[in-house]
Amino acid sequence: MRMDSRIILHIDMNSYFASVEQQANPFLRGKPIGITGKNQKRSIVATASIEAKRLGVKTAMSTWEAKKICPSIILYPGDPEKYSDITRRFNAIYRSFTDRVEAFSVDESFLDLTEEATDYLGAAFMAQAIRERVREECGERITASIGVAPNRLMAKLASESVKPNGLTVVQAHEVLELLDRSNLEDLCGIGGRIRERLSDLGIETFAQLREFPVDRLVEAFDSYGVWLHEAAWGREIEHVTTSTPDSPKSYGHSYTLPENTNDLTILKRYLLGLADKVAWRMRRDGVAACRVSAYVRFADFSGHGEQRTSQEPLTDGLALFEIVWRILRPFFQVAPSRLVRLLGITASMVCPDPKRISLFKKERRMRSVLSSLDQLQHRYGAGIWKRAGTLQAEFKSRSSGFHFDHDVP
Ligand SMILES: [Mg+2]
Repeated sequence: MRMDSRIILHIDMNSYFASVEQQANPFLRGKPIGITGKNQKRSIVATASIEAKRLGVKTAMSTWEAKKICPSIILYPGDPEKYSDITRRFNAIYRSFTDRVEAFSVDESFLDLTEEATDYLGAAFMAQAIRERVREECGERITASIGVAPNRLMAKLASESVKPNGLTVVQAHEVLELLDRSNLEDLCGIGGRIRERLSDLGIETFAQLREFPVDRLVEAFDSYGVWLHEAAWGREIEHVTTSTPDSPKSYGHSYTLPENTNDLTILKRYLLGLADKVAWRMRRDGVAACRVSAYVRFADFSGHGEQRTSQEPLTDGLALFEIVWRILRPFFQVAPSRLVRLLGITASMVCPDPKRISLFKKERRMRSVLSSLDQLQHRYGAGIWKRAGTLQAEFKSRSSGFHFDHDVP
C-alpha cells in the first residue's frame, strides 16, 4: 500500500500535565495553573492550564515571567510518575483499537487505523469512541486534539490546527489546502533555524517550498532537502513504528570475559562491543537514552558501578562507549593489577529517538552510516559488521554470558 494513502490518527493531550493535576485536585479546576520543576524559582512553566494560556502564559516561559503576566497563576511542582501512569492508561486504550500505536511523546501518540477504519468517516467515528474511552478511564479533564490524515506529518499538523478538544480530518486531496493555511514552522521538523535558512532562499510558504527546485534544496540542506520537498507536497517517508506496551525501559548488556584480565586495550574492546549492542537495540526500537550506567566486577567479586546523565539523547554506540569509559577508567587506574571478570552497560531514561536533523555535517554523516549499518544488520543478522577496534573481542554466548533486557546490578 502507498504510504500516503494510509489513515493515521495523531492524538495530542491538551495542556497535559496541568489537566492531570486539575483532574486529581478539584481545587485547581478552572484556575490558571502552571506546572514547574522542583526548584520553582529557577524553573520554567512546563505546561500551562487552558485558563493560564488564555491569560497569556506560554509553555517554557520562566516562572518569574509567568507571575508577572498572570499574578493569579498557581505554580505547581510536576509529578512525572502521575503523568506517566495516565500516559500508560491512554496508550492501553489506543492499543485496544489497533496494535499499530506509536507513543511519540508523553502526551502524543500516532495510531495507524488503515485496516480498522477502512475510510475517513470510520476513522472519525473511531476518534470519537477513543475520546469517550479516555474520558471514562482517565477523567473528563483530560482532553485531546485529534488529527486524521494520510500520514503522521499531516496528522500532527491537523491535530495542531484546532485546540483544545478538536477533531480535524484531512483527506489526501485536502493536504495541500491544510499546508497552505499553515506557517512553515507549524510543521514538526521545521524549527527556527531551518525556517531562517528557508527564508534566506526566499521561501516563506509551503506553496513556495513546493515549487522550489529540489536539487537546490538538497544543495542547501543535504538529504533533508528531499524531506522538505516531500513535506511541502504533504508526503512523508516513514511508517508508524509500533511500540509494544512492555518495550523495555532500559537496555542493558553484561558480559563475563572468557578470561579475567587487567589489559586496558582488551577491556576497551569489550566495552565498545557492548555499547554497540545496546545502541543497536535502541535504534531498532526507535528510542534514545539520556542516562548511561557502567558496571565492573573484579575477580574477587567486588564491584563498582556509576551512572551519568547526558544532555543529548544517545543512539550511537561510540558515544555510549565514551561515557562508559569515562566512568570506568578511574576504577581500573586505582588498582591496575586487579583482574576484571565482568563488564556491564545499561542505557536508561529512554525516550523516542528525536531523529533531530543536525546542522553539523559530521553528525548527519554518522547518522546515515549508522542507519545503513542497521539495515545490513536487520537483513543479515547481528555480527554482520564490526568496528575494527573490536575485531579481537569475540562475544561468546554462554549461560553466564549475555543477559538481555536487564538492569545491571
Ligand atoms: Mg499536548
